[in-house]
Amino acid sequence: MAWRFISGGSLWADWMHSRYIKQDNFWTCSTDNNHSITFKTILRHRRVLKSAIRRVLKDGSSTDLWQDPWLDRRSLLDIRGAPTHQEDRRGLTCSRIIRNGEWRSDSYRFTEELGETIMSTVIDPALPADRWIWEPTDASSKTGEFQFRSCYNLIRRTFPLSPDYEFIWCKGLTRKMQLCVYKLLLGRLLTKDRPSSFGVPVPDPKCVLCCLEPESIKHIFFECAMAWQIWSEQGRVLGVCASEKGIGDIITVIRDSRGRGQDWFRTARVRLAASVWHVWRERNRRIFEGLVTPPVGILHNIEFDVNAIEN
Ligand SMILES: [Zn+2]
Repeated sequence: MAWRFISGGSLWADWMHSRYIKQDNFWTCSTDNNHSITFKTILRHRRVLKSAIRRVLKDGSSTDLWQDPWLDRRSLLDIRGAPTHQEDRRGLTCSRIIRNGEWRSDSYRFTEELGETIMSTVIDPALPADRWIWEPTDASSKTGEFQFRSCYNLIRRTFPLSPDYEFIWCKGLTRKMQLCVYKLLLGRLLTKDRPSSFGVPVPDPKCVLCCLEPESIKHIFFECAMAWQIWSEQGRVLGVCASEKGIGDIITVIRDSRGRGQDWFRTARVRLAASVWHVWRERNRRIFEGLVTPPVGILHNIEFDVNAIEN
């Protein structure tokens, strides 16, 4: 919206300008209580916006000499500070220092460095008017057109990539499988031991797969006799040892064996996700639908999904 606002050319932008900016300058005006939430938010993002845009001039007549950030993403005010003499900077435009499509280097008394920055600003008399172009440093294309992708990268918070991402973002996995593995990795699947940890009693805290031990993530997926059957079969097919105690161990075993090739690594990740998903699905079907599939049926379902994903 901030980009649409400064680019102008829409009814909305014109309306916002005439309502909130009037004779003021967008880059230097301060928020007041009459501003809408939208406009306040736009103002709050001026610094980000400034880092992503560049001004290209036709003749400078619509670029504020002191306040617009036309000098390599900075304004003359940013670089020089407020003018010391009481010259009225209001209303001065860049056209003051441009003549016939060229910078009038004789018309200003600036330092050499500032002079160079001014000269590096592009003047293109063929343009219909002075305009902003979208040019963040990480933009993949330099057309000057707005890009959601680079804008998103500019405003989002980034975190280091989790080393386990490959086990969630594996091509072909269904969203439900991905979400299930993701929750398992975070320890956030809603097993029966969780309500008791908040002090909420659960009538039957036993695992529905074996009906012997209390249900927990660790039990369902790694300690339960049924889980053991699933993992030992997957271990047999993949040719790895299946004595793991948790998802982290399984991931480590698979990662350590990735030297067996890309195809093997992919199959291993698909088998891991499909196994986790089918064990969890079986647990939910037993609790919520009263349906029971024996381990051999679950293994069959896993094979079916693995084949469907692989092919
Ligand atoms: Zn069990």
